[in-house]
Amino acid sequence: MILKRYIEEHTNTNFDVIIIGGGITGAAVAYTAAGRGLSVALFEKKDYGGATSAATSKLIHGGLRYLANMEFKLVRESLQERRILGNIAPNFVYPLPFLFPNYKRWKGNMWKMAAGMFLYDMLSYDKKHTWDKSKQLPNHKTISFKKTIEQEPNLIKKDLRNATVFYDYQSIFPERLTLSFIKSAAEYGAKVSNYAIVEDFVYDDENKISGVKVKDLILNKTKTVKGSLIINCGGTWADKILNMASKSKNLTHKVRRSE
Ligand SMILES: Cc1cc2nc3c(=O)[nH]c(=O)nc-3n(C[C@H](O)[C@H](O)[C@H](O)COP(=O)(O)OP(=O)(O)OC[C@H]3O[C@@H](n4cnc5c(N)ncnc54)[C@H](O)[C@@H]3O)c2cc1C
Repeated sequence: MILKRYIEEHTNTNFDVIIIGGGITGAAVAYTAAGRGLSVALFEKKDYGGATSAATSKLIHGGLRYLANMEFKLVRESLQERRILGNIAPNFVYPLPFLFPNYKRWKGNMWKMAAGMFLYDMLSYDKKHTWDKSKQLPNHKTISFKKTIEQEPNLIKKDLRNATVFYDYQSIFPERLTLSFIKSAAEYGAKVSNYAIVEDFVYDDENKISGVKVKDLILNKTKTVKGSLIINCGGTWADKILNMASKSKNLTHKVRRSE
């Protein structure tokens, strides 16, 4: 399908949902909302998926490390979403094995590792429920010293006991995954525009936000787009968007960015 830039043709539609930001969060929200029959407009100031969503470690993981913080609900949710991606985007996600060498000097962590692996398997008990068999992830397994060295000959052999192998998905092109969500949202009727920056909010008579001012960065025109609900999917810029909204109330929100 041809992905039209809606902002060029906007006149006076009032949307159920306006989404600011066309990274994976905005794209997935647009897909979900449009798929449920809501009228949706999405604005992205650069290109879809061109910011953080293009610069990930390329993993679709369940968050194994969050188990150490006892965040079981979060891990279960992530593992469910991992499986869902295996079902709805099989062309973008692929099983990726990890090999975790167990050395004698890590004695204290062995039980923690075993418990973590057991839980990761338990919390993803439905990981084999994918229509595409090649997306079915196996449970973790422990492999012998010999097999570990066969798999990774460059590992330091001294004190090596064995290794744990577990699986997540790899998503090699997260920006293309994002674009596919945008395109599916558009197929459900969402109106999407890239190179369209939200510069301000508009307010109704009761001083409630009722829309956004969007600058079309290609045609250099600013338009007002009305909506009942506005969702901030601005990622790292979320604080700037919040500050734009709370300008009149003198609030300051800050995202702490890594250097
Ligand atoms: C180094 C690193 C590695 C990571 N690895 C992984 C991984 O392996 N697996 C994983 O699942 N997650 C990973 N993450 C996390 C993941 O990348 C983010 O959670 C995700 O990309 C966030 O998506 P987003 O849509 O919220 O933000 P973004 O992708 O940043 O999208 C926000 C969008 O909003 C737009 N925008 C901002 N302000 C405006 C405005 N005023 N008007 C219009 N548009 C606006 C921006 O241009 C941007 O495109 C990683 C993150 C980092 C930093």
